[in-house]
Amino acid sequence: MPNEYVVEVNDLKKYFPIKSGILQRTTGHVRAVDGVSFRIQKGHTFGLVGESGCGKTTIGRSILRLTDPTSGEVKISGVDIGKLKKKELRPFRPKMQMIFQDPFSSLDPRMPVGEIIGEAVKEHNLVSRSEYKDYILKVMKDCGLRPYYIDRYPHEFSGGQRQRICIARALALNPDFIVCDEPVSALDVSIQAQIINLMKDLQQQRQLTYLFISHDLSVVEHISDVIGVMYLGSMVETGTKDDIFKEPLHPYTKALFSAVPIADPDVKMKRIILEGDIPSPSNPPKGCKFHTRCSQCMAKCKEEVPVPKDMGNGHVVSCHLYD
Ligand code: SF4
Repeated sequence: MPNEYVVEVNDLKKYFPIKSGILQRTTGHVRAVDGVSFRIQKGHTFGLVGESGCGKTTIGRSILRLTDPTSGEVKISGVDIGKLKKKELRPFRPKMQMIFQDPFSSLDPRMPVGEIIGEAVKEHNLVSRSEYKDYILKVMKDCGLRPYYIDRYPHEFSGGQRQRICIARALALNPDFIVCDEPVSALDVSIQAQIINLMKDLQQQRQLTYLFISHDLSVVEHISDVIGVMYLGSMVETGTKDDIFKEPLHPYTKALFSAVPIADPDVKMKRIILEGDIPSPSNPPKGCKFHTRCSQCMAKCKEEVPVPKDMGNGHVVSCHLYD
């Protein structure tokens, strides 16, 4: 029976060493990702949200082995890719792709669009020489790019069109899984919707699985099936989009989602303002990492790390309020 989960992440950790002194000795670690677990079903989108610096991008990069995780397990389509050597990893590369935030800096300005999209297709011998051009034109068409763009250069395009080129480059490799790291946050609002709709259409046509990283909750609401909320390298709550938006449980999620505008003039927004700054990930608070900013903090929160609890329907929260 085929594995219904394309992505399975278990207790993933990524610590970056802090070096100091003339001998550059390791004096500590930045715990960018600190024991995160989640799964993504085939054809679904997992939205990953949280403040800047909470470890969202490091998770995406660690899953794709763009940076090697410190520990933990990452399975893509059932294969534990963390155990693969570089050479063994190569055939898996086309199956997992990434779309970056800034479409301009992720495109080589000296290459025409056709070559940008086709470079890795040739590298991995995905289609024969005779089929190559038609294949590239088909991918371009699927991404809303006109055929005559094939010989043009990235600087000749708008931000939205450049992001379409980045999507086409990823899609040309026929991936199963794409990490989308803030793919629309550099674009105008009017263009954002076009790109999100394109991504949704492509997902339906090709059964793509997305990890969608964003700090824009309205965008996440539009595209996600399941949402994970991160705070200081840890996943504090996961659940379906409806559960997270309508019934957030964790005090941090409640504060984060209280800032989402409601399109109803009769409903008053009750914005929860968080006090204080995010603590340093190199020296996170003991117990619950959120206790320094939580208005409902109890004595045990300062000592004991809350364990994730399933509140039903896969709605999982890590907070002592639900012990
Ligand atoms: Fe607040 Fe305690 Fe829950 Fe942490 S465990 S979020 S400090 S109530």
